[in-house]
Amino acid sequence: MRIVFANSAWVSAAERLILRGGGWQSVRLRVRYGLIFHPAAGPVLIDTGYTPEALSGERRGRMLQLYGALLKPELNAAGQVLPMLRRFSLSPDDIRAIIVTHFHADHISGLSLFRNARFIASDAAWARVKARSPSQNLRHGVFTELFPPDFEARLDGISAKPRVAAQGDIPGGADLFGDGSVIAIDLPGHADGQFGLLFTGPGRPLLYAVDVQWLLAALTESRTPGFPATLIAEDATAIESASAMLRRFLASGGEVMLCHDPAPTSHDLAPEAA
Ligand SMILES: [Zn+2]
Repeated sequence: MRIVFANSAWVSAAERLILRGGGWQSVRLRVRYGLIFHPAAGPVLIDTGYTPEALSGERRGRMLQLYGALLKPELNAAGQVLPMLRRFSLSPDDIRAIIVTHFHADHISGLSLFRNARFIASDAAWARVKARSPSQNLRHGVFTELFPPDFEARLDGISAKPRVAAQGDIPGGADLFGDGSVIAIDLPGHADGQFGLLFTGPGRPLLYAVDVQWLLAALTESRTPGFPATLIAEDATAIESASAMLRRFLASGGEVMLCHDPAPTSHDLAPEAA
């Protein structure tokens, strides 16, 4: 099963905000999303990255406009989801499934572009989004205007998926396609309902750990940033246990990838196009 990642945008942050003991210099972070070619489900997106819907869309509320103005993400034209799909001769209507790892803007921004897709996501987290007021959702970093109006009708909740047990330091989770090829691993802490994806095909197991940390060094060197990063975390203590689990997975020979780490990986599409 082929797995590729692309970079939708660049976002700059002072290193000390995202790495304990880091410097004042600015780090240029990627905003990745992925595409897998599943033998039965076809091409499946992993999130959508940032798209213009989050940064200039007419449906944006005032808080989302403010968020864009503060963060100033710089969209990467060639790495945007539609041109990336064209590289594989795919149109948005060819996408029948999108795995939504969590509900932050840089992951759900482009969902409304895909009218034929069902959304594989945390139904428990969605139920909490629905139960909250708009301002409570904003405090959880969720801009509800980015969800397609029929999100719930197209939601394919992970709670109904069969479970796969952990094996030693390889964590267990929800078997998204019922064939063991893609396992959703709970990664609490950063955002309500966040999960990562474990791929155990031939070769080294890969865990896409999304936003557990911004930088791989924060994980490998145990340098989880403190305040103010803890302020925006859903549950700062859970970040530590998720990070410890990932370190055990790394130590057992697994590979961990993050959404925002700036260093290119072997799964990233060639830089000239992504
Ligand atoms: Zn996030």
